[in-house]
Amino acid sequence: MNSIPYGRQDINRADIDSVVAILKSDFLTQGNVVPKFENSVSDYVKAKYAVAVNSATSALHIACLALGVRKGDRVWTSAITFVASANCALYCGAEVDFVDIDDKTYNLSIEKLEEKLIVAEKSGSLPYLLIAVHLCGQSCDMQSIKSLSDKYGFKVIEDASHAIGGKYKGEAIGNCHYSDITIFSFHPVKIITTGEGGMALTNNFELANQMRSLRSHGITNIQGEMELRPETEIWNYQQLSLGFNYRLTDIHAALGLSQMNRVSEFVQQRHEIADRYNQEFSNLPVLVPYQDPLTYSSYHLYVIRLDLNRIRKSQIEIYKEFQSEGILVNLHYIPVYLQPFYERKGFLRGYCPSAERYFHEAITLPLFSSLSEEELTRVISVTKKVISD
Ligand SMILES: *Cc1c(COP(=O)(O)O)cnc(C)c1O
Repeated sequence: MNSIPYGRQDINRADIDSVVAILKSDFLTQGNVVPKFENSVSDYVKAKYAVAVNSATSALHIACLALGVRKGDRVWTSAITFVASANCALYCGAEVDFVDIDDKTYNLSIEKLEEKLIVAEKSGSLPYLLIAVHLCGQSCDMQSIKSLSDKYGFKVIEDASHAIGGKYKGEAIGNCHYSDITIFSFHPVKIITTGEGGMALTNNFELANQMRSLRSHGITNIQGEMELRPETEIWNYQQLSLGFNYRLTDIHAALGLSQMNRVSEFVQQRHEIADRYNQEFSNLPVLVPYQDPLTYSSYHLYVIRLDLNRIRKSQIEIYKEFQSEGILVNLHYIPVYLQPFYERKGFLRGYCPSAERYFHEAITLPLFSSLSEEELTRVISVTKKVISD
């Protein structure tokens, strides 16, 4: 029997045709498909500007740089996230610190954030930037984050790598109403894919311009942006800052543009599967994902919490039993500061107690739009078999 991964892309004939059409065209990269894809996403989420890059990690990096993150600055993010949400700050020479999570949503806790800010203000160590992560596709409490950012003067990036197609207070995640920049990922396990790819959304013209420059070596070929040089020399481009090659190709963008036709459908299908799980697991000794009524999750991940007081097995035994049944459950995520690299920076066990409890109880079940009825039934029956009190 085939094994079932926790996430998988959903590619149809139209997706394939649109990629093949680009392969047969004149431009494989930097043609007109990247801007079309950017417009498609910015129209969908109602943000003014979109900058497509080769990964969400690259997008996070140039977003930090555009916001002016520098050596010695403090950047805070959630303890439960993918390492990229923290690494981007280190790329800029900043210091990273972690906010513990909310016990219900598993997003960063607003109460703990506020407590930490009060302490930091007293010791003159307020953060320059907060990277709020919409875990599993469910928005953070952005209204509260915005009020705290106004009060304490830090900038905000939304790491919405999980969350395209999700909503907060009825509006699309990515509109940047409560943040400076929002990031999406198009890795194959995410909601829509470009193979590898990411995007930064913003309503700020200057930030968008800087990120466009940074994704391509800090080079411009626009006359009005160039610095004065002798007219007797050929200056058809100028490097104005130290950028990178973080460009997305037209091949990848063509896949993304085609996938955008189905983004709402994908999220709808994910909700249907999550609803089935919620019903089927209502009598199991597990917590199903809590949904804040102000949010509409994109349901990138379906995470259950094991009630280990009522289960006679350990988390790792359950994990291994799923694996041996061919259900490739996962864990999202290990607290970032417990990673050996971060531990060497001096973070200790016990630093974020809620995140560590979550780490020891969470399991991610398969959830993706192309999950068949047969696969779904199999996941449900294996789950009932493996998890019983
Ligand atoms: C996937 C992910 C990223 C990185 O995305 P890439 O496109 O693979 O670079 C960053 N943050 C979070 C929360 C993610 O899940």
